[in-house]
Amino acid sequence: MSAAPKSVAIIGANLAGGWAADTLRQKGFEGEIILIGEEPDPPYERPPLSKDLLLHPDEMPKTLFLHDLDYYAQQRIELRLGVRASRIDLRGKRVELADGGHVNADRIMLCTGGAARSLPVPGADLPQVHCLRSLADSRAIAAGLAPGKSVVVVGGGVIGLEVAASAARKGCAVSVLEAAPALMSRVVTPEIGQFLLQCHRAEGVDIRPGEGIAAILGESGVQAVDTGSGARIDADIVVLGVGIDPADDLARQAGIATDNGIIVDAHCRTSVAEVYAAGDVANQPNPYLGGRVRLENVQNAQNQGAAAAEAILGSTTAFEELPYFWTDQFDLNVQAAGDTRHAEQAITRGALESHAFSVFYLTQGKVQGVLTVNQPKDMAHGRRMIMRHLCPDPAALADPDSDLRQIVKAAS
Ligand code: ADP
Repeated sequence: MSAAPKSVAIIGANLAGGWAADTLRQKGFEGEIILIGEEPDPPYERPPLSKDLLLHPDEMPKTLFLHDLDYYAQQRIELRLGVRASRIDLRGKRVELADGGHVNADRIMLCTGGAARSLPVPGADLPQVHCLRSLADSRAIAAGLAPGKSVVVVGGGVIGLEVAASAARKGCAVSVLEAAPALMSRVVTPEIGQFLLQCHRAEGVDIRPGEGIAAILGESGVQAVDTGSGARIDADIVVLGVGIDPADDLARQAGIATDNGIIVDAHCRTSVAEVYAAGDVANQPNPYLGGRVRLENVQNAQNQGAAAAEAILGSTTAFEELPYFWTDQFDLNVQAAGDTRHAEQAITRGALESHAFSVFYLTQGKVQGVLTVNQPKDMAHGRRMIMRHLCPDPAALADPDSDLRQIVKAAS
């Protein structure tokens, strides 16, 4: 058993890193906590970046930052912001920084997150071509959205569709190119993808499934986009929402095991003793999905960051996160938990046309996933069903007038 740590360096001043630092202190750790971040800002929530902050860039949501700077000072959490960690020296237990400095620590936690993918197409380096990952990206996109502007979004995933909805609300003419046949296919079924497609089209968004991008045209600024099938769409601004790649280079260079992110066990431990990882970059076994997975959502970032901190302090509880995400697009609030894509049976409760319905996903009678559209109350019951491995009566589930609380009770 190694000695109790006197110092912890956390690389990545994002939500996972912020929660980890906070949890260490809240759970009684008295030693040094150093939070290293490449961005100039302390940890913040990303969900508003593609929604509220695009719609109202001048109104900073009160809850954007996890804590203000004073809080970190009070908690004796040392922030090293605006500087990249450039190398981990495992033998010397130190993190080297790009500005020539370094941080020594008994434990190291990697919360390096992910980097927005770019696309190797001509014109991708034009100034009005943006990804959306950071606060700075969000501000740059917001500055280009105005009534009458033409926006081409590449990628019909969660980020792409949120940007499309925000841009349409701002009065822009919006097109979405999605290479796959269905929208949001990483996280929802083709049926839900189709529902979202109809909603976006009804709002005037030009959604083009099965369509990629061949080139972005323009001399000094974006003028148009050539699609893979040869169509040309006028554009003032292009937003790439084609997913993220885990930022695991630092770990790999240090000889820490990686494979689509940093490999960790149920206690967020990497392949190297006393080095932990959490957040979008961590690839961890998940009991609900039955394999390893990197979860790219807020809930996981904060819970896994906290769990890694507790593991550093000696907790032996395995971290078991029920996968969950939510998205707001136009008047739709979509939430999903568990595995919504591989079930034998989908039971829909309510009519899709009403824009208020839930879908329960069952395999061998057992609920393994739930998705709600403008029915947030159903989510709590659905989560309970998944976590308790319940086999509720399908006919009762399908009846929107039945009481889900009673259904949970009857199946427990
Ligand atoms: P995020 O959650 O960041 O939005 P996803 O992986 O869910 O990321 O979505 C990215 C989407 O981008 C996927 O639906 C994928 O099919 C799409 N995509 C990836 N590359 C291209 C491309 N070259 N052209 C159009 N769509 C693409």
